Amino acid sequence: MSKKISILGSTGSIGTQALEVCEKHGFEVIALSAHSSVELLEQQTRKFKPKYVCIFNENKYGELKERLSDLSVEVLTGMDGLCFVSALEEADIILNSVVGMVGLLPTLKAIEAGKDIALANKETLVAGGKLVMSSAKEKGVNIYPVDSEHSAIFQCLQGNKRSQLSKIILTASGGPFYGRTYDELKSVTKADALKHPNWDMGNKITIDSATLMNKGLEFIEAKWLFDLEPEQIEIVVHRQSVIHSAVEYNDYSVIAQLGVPDMKIPIQYALLYPDRTECPTKRLSLTDYGTLTFGKPDYETFKCLSSAIEAIKRGGAYPCLVNSANEEAVRAFLSDEITFIEIGEIVSSVLDEFEYTELTSYEDITEADRKAREYVKWRISAKS
Ligand code: MN
Repeated sequence: MSKKISILGSTGSIGTQALEVCEKHGFEVIALSAHSSVELLEQQTRKFKPKYVCIFNENKYGELKERLSDLSVEVLTGMDGLCFVSALEEADIILNSVVGMVGLLPTLKAIEAGKDIALANKETLVAGGKLVMSSAKEKGVNIYPVDSEHSAIFQCLQGNKRSQLSKIILTASGGPFYGRTYDELKSVTKADALKHPNWDMGNKITIDSATLMNKGLEFIEAKWLFDLEPEQIEIVVHRQSVIHSAVEYNDYSVIAQLGVPDMKIPIQYALLYPDRTECPTKRLSLTDYGTLTFGKPDYETFKCLSSAIEAIKRGGAYPCLVNSANEEAVRAFLSDEITFIEIGEIVSSVLDEFEYTELTSYEDITEADRKAREYVKWRISAKS
């Protein structure tokens, strides 16, 4: 079962948990990469002894090279380095757990090299869904979802006929502000927004969970991964994050996947597919939970969610535009430039500000990304 793996984003929440899974199952880690966490990347390199290590931030390259000067590992940097470790000849699988749009090009390079991908980078499919799925099909590359919801759907599809699927139920924890009104959200702080009830994640995704943009991005990802119409995706708020998502078939039988909220389960499934062996996590006890609850999302209050759904219904560049606008808005929120509700206002305004355009190449995507970011920066600076 020993596979050779290259990990993009090894110092993040998914990356560190993936390394636990690799350790448990004796995977050979042939490459590690991080954005700028030099210290942790050094520790990981000493422990897992990869052939290649990449630090994305070029300003940190010298420091990392210095720290690792007693090892024979090859040290790389920048987008070139990231693309190199995503297309390694000797890798069996690439885990892409990079945060943001920056993860798209490495995914395309991995596909070009014919490498199977365990995908945790949402933006890859949100911004480049059409391009990524068609190139993966052409190259015969498998994309294994790492996100818990998409992993759940993928698991529920096993042994059934895809042609007999009627819809999917995408579950959402609802985030820390479930049940609040729009007015109540006007006063929430950064600290409030960074507290998630069930999952321990990086800052960007934690804010996305609070605005429900995360569910909007997952809606778009699900459309591409499983070739669905937007009308076939129902979002259900399930506060306990025990049911990770479900699939309804033509006979109205609904199959769900359950487990404790621990990303190691979906990470392991993506890396070991189709094998199921002991995972370094807790077992689910339904009686400990006692009650599982279900509700409808509030699309009026959580504008990011409704905007993301509207974006994928309209198609073209809109999903990419709302995603890039959101990345900029979250960055601005985390640096105290805008308030929490302004994130949703900015994201939804993109739907009015931009005309429909098609995205047919990577260049088209980066151009749409650039325009959306420029627009958000302009909007924020015009306000102050
Ligand atoms: Mn998720």
